[in-house]
Amino acid sequence: MGRYTGPVCKLCRREGQKLFLKGTKCYTEKCPVERRAYPPGQHGVAQARRRKMSDYALQLREKQKVKRIYGVNERYFRNVFRSATQTTGLTGANLLIGLESRLDNVIYRLGFAGSRAQSRQLVRHRHVEVNGRAVDIPSYQVQPGDEVRLKDGSRDLVPVQAALESKTRPDTVSWLALDEGTRTGRMLERPTRDEIPLAVQEQLIVELYSK
Ligand code: SF4
Repeated sequence: MGRYTGPVCKLCRREGQKLFLKGTKCYTEKCPVERRAYPPGQHGVAQARRRKMSDYALQLREKQKVKRIYGVNERYFRNVFRSATQTTGLTGANLLIGLESRLDNVIYRLGFAGSRAQSRQLVRHRHVEVNGRAVDIPSYQVQPGDEVRLKDGSRDLVPVQAALESKTRPDTVSWLALDEGTRTGRMLERPTRDEIPLAVQEQLIVELYSK
């Protein structure tokens, strides 16, 4: 299945929580999750009234939530999960570390884009360089020591300026170093699970795929 291109607020309503898919805009716009706290669609209200979810439903929802936060499809997600199982350490944590190391996520975490969707567009449109070479693959895995920067002609793009000046911009994570003036960042080390500011229960995803 291709990438979802419909209204992203519906995805948050489906998960019953704010996923901040519009990034910094989510703090300034009226959030539909707060105004209509039930799933979208004709049967949304009835679904919200139903009794508690099964274990399988909880696991499935957690997986969908993480996929939606990072904007990735099922096939890619499964691939990242597979490589997480082949790496030493906890599979759930490895899964999130693999997703966090994506180039589009690193650009977002550095604050050069207001959302991961915007960040993906910056990468796709060749505004980003890794170690001095243009990279236009959003899923590119950034390695410790890699230097990620915006190209000279792209540093002052309106969305980049807006993202950097946003009052709701999240703090830069500890595993990335940022030089805002030159629009350059460096991955200091791979993040640990504790350094990934994401309130998800990745163990539920491991249980889902282990069935
Ligand atoms: Fe989700 Fe942001 Fe839309 Fe709220 S405003 S529903 S957090 S994308």
